[in-house]
Amino acid sequence: MSSISDKAKHLQNTIAAACARAGRTENSVKLIVVTKTAPIQAIREVIHLGFTDLGENRVQHLKQITEDLAALFKEHSDDETVLEKINWHLIGHLQRNKVKQTLKICNTIHSLDTLRLAEEINTQAHKQGIHTNVLLQVNCSRENQKYGCPVGAAIHLAEQFCTMPNLRLIGLMTMAPLTMDKDRVRACFARAREIFEEIRGEHIAGAKFKHLSMGMSQDYEIAIEEGATMLRIGSAIFN
Ligand SMILES: *Cc1c(COP(=O)(O)O)cnc(C)c1O
Repeated sequence: MSSISDKAKHLQNTIAAACARAGRTENSVKLIVVTKTAPIQAIREVIHLGFTDLGENRVQHLKQITEDLAALFKEHSDDETVLEKINWHLIGHLQRNKVKQTLKICNTIHSLDTLRLAEEINTQAHKQGIHTNVLLQVNCSRENQKYGCPVGAAIHLAEQFCTMPNLRLIGLMTMAPLTMDKDRVRACFARAREIFEEIRGEHIAGAKFKHLSMGMSQDYEIAIEEGATMLRIGSAIFN
């Protein structure tokens, strides 16, 4: 078993190599470390390795993590200002009754997939006097995935999100089908990329619309080749 720092280093090298193959610069891809399966000591470790973008898929768990981290940092006399610099990304399905709590911790939500959820985020962000970064989650997998808007609805939803003053639409998110078939994975990412280009080409969203959040531990190299700018990776670091 190699250590977390070895695994993180290996991952960063593999990401760099994939970027090079795709003719992209390394810093055109942001790694979001997904903490959902990780013990709290391991999360502390990745923070000390310098990772500042962390992702969680359930807000209740996230709230617990932030409390536990604060306690752990105190216990070890770690620099607590480091915790303030972390950007928490919500990457899993979000229920409307959890929006208020989510916005207190997360500044970016990857899993926005309905108009009703967008309206609630906009309302709560307005009440809290903030702007929230959101990504439209699109189901590009041709599978009956539970979440993500249908491909055919994506452009229209993006247009509507852009009318909401406290939302900042910064990109699209998608999840590949659960399959070993690399061609199907690639087709899914390519489809997301097409919609992304269409939204940019038609100037539907502003200059901040520049992210494609796709790629997990099993498929991030394909995602990089297809234009991902944000990778969401957990098990390759923690397992
Ligand atoms: C768990 C999860 C990830 C990370 O998956 P790994 O296979 O552990 O890298 C990425 N995105 C979402 C939405 C997840 O729920």
